[in-house]
Amino acid sequence: MNVQAKPPVRREAMRIAGRKVTTDEVVEVFNPWNNQLVGTVPAARPEHVREAFATARAFTPKLTRYERQQILLRTAEALRDRKEEFARLITAESGLCWKDSLYEASRAYDVYSFAAQLAILDDGETYACDISPMGKRRKIFTTRVPLSGVISAITPFNHPLNMVSHKIAPAIATNNRVVLKPTELTPLTALALADVLYEAGLPPEMLSVVTGNPASMGDAMITDPDAELITFTGSVRVGKHIARTAGYRRVVLELGGNDPLIVMEDADLDKAAELAVQGATKNSGQRCTAVKRILVVESVADEFSRLVLAKARKLVAGDPMDPTVDVGTVIHERAACEFERRVTDAVAQGARLLHGNDRRGALYPPTVVDHVPHDAELVREETFGPVIPILRCPNDIAEVIRISNSTAYGLSSGVCTNRLDYITRFVNELEVGTVNVWEVPGYRIEMSPFGGVKDSGLGHKEGVVEAMKSFTTIRTYSLPWP
Ligand code: NAD
Repeated sequence: MNVQAKPPVRREAMRIAGRKVTTDEVVEVFNPWNNQLVGTVPAARPEHVREAFATARAFTPKLTRYERQQILLRTAEALRDRKEEFARLITAESGLCWKDSLYEASRAYDVYSFAAQLAILDDGETYACDISPMGKRRKIFTTRVPLSGVISAITPFNHPLNMVSHKIAPAIATNNRVVLKPTELTPLTALALADVLYEAGLPPEMLSVVTGNPASMGDAMITDPDAELITFTGSVRVGKHIARTAGYRRVVLELGGNDPLIVMEDADLDKAAELAVQGATKNSGQRCTAVKRILVVESVADEFSRLVLAKARKLVAGDPMDPTVDVGTVIHERAACEFERRVTDAVAQGARLLHGNDRRGALYPPTVVDHVPHDAELVREETFGPVIPILRCPNDIAEVIRISNSTAYGLSSGVCTNRLDYITRFVNELEVGTVNVWEVPGYRIEMSPFGGVKDSGLGHKEGVVEAMKSFTTIRTYSLPWP
């Protein structure tokens, strides 16, 4: 297959309950690598959003568990069979490299496959009531019912297929209706996915995809009278805006991260350096759980820094469609300029630039900076790109934990040590949603619970199991049975 082939410009319509809807005004989607137009999508107005919610609300899903399973399985199979087609689209609109896009398509396969397998399991529980002196010979049963309103789903650019799938698959598995607003930066993948879902047999009323500028139609997604739950993945800034605006309805917010990889003095430094470099640069460093700070204790920092530099130098950054490239572009030149500025500022504050910071357009190659001051903006804020910042810490686990907990974020973490006393303290004392021992912070399976604390998230966790819970209401009923 020739992955270099230039895809034709896609002039897309929205999908409102399966119906293709266009508008005069459009949003253009550009390839960050070559600035070519990849496609256009309609710029929805609030009335389009209203129509999508009203149509969804008027429909009552009646799919059996078996039917839901079959739709999800067919979707998983289609994604597997059309993996390269999706990868091509992801790379074209996001600049993520071919390797990253193929990986993303495989992850999305898992999301639908796991949701299919979970859809057929009964989730009911039984409580015997004759268990206390005033107990009765009755039983209480639980059952989970879909929301009576519609799910409003809003997704970010960094995983154009997988983030969307984490909203849609659990919704289908639980017989819910969704109105999805993918980001205006990478909306084409979501529209292609909607067609796969319809082809797989999803009643079109269960999924609408509306596109456009958040400034004009974002609030309609948050305040629609038929939106019972808003599930949002994106930045802290927008997440907090949603929390303030949503009013009396459920909100699930999966927000930014500033995840540490912690390297203690007993660590296998080569293995730790490999995790640091991979964790900071995969997906062009644009993962909420990318390694964004490497906290290494002083006693091993020189040797560790040398190993990181050697590994970072081996990574190839360049044309995202080239299958040998390890790091594609970031989402746009504006973002790349911001990373460059932050690194330059950190260096002005005393950090040492060892490699990179040589931006070309939206291509920001892996950049190694050592001796980064702990309060540099580069590491205090989320730097959503392939920077590998090394922060040297005192040889004292209490200090390492304090530094790790010192940002506003609390998504995930990775720790490199074999000492059980250290591991125990990290698991208990890091203020995060996840502690991965000898893995990158981003390690997970699509089914396991995932989400952060502090500014990194609010409400239920994600992952197919937790999302299915969050998209349902527990109803109990009791019967006079012993
Ligand atoms: P973003 O917050 O800029 O945009 C996310 C979505 O919100 C987009 O669809 C955007 O159009 C929409 N939006 C923007 N303003 C809005 C408004 N006023 N009303 C309604 N919707 C609005 O985020 P991004 O730059 O696309 O994504 C990167 C961020 O996402 C990073 O901070 C990253 O850490 C985070 N993220 C978090 C997770 C997680 O699971 N915790 C996963 C992936 C990405």
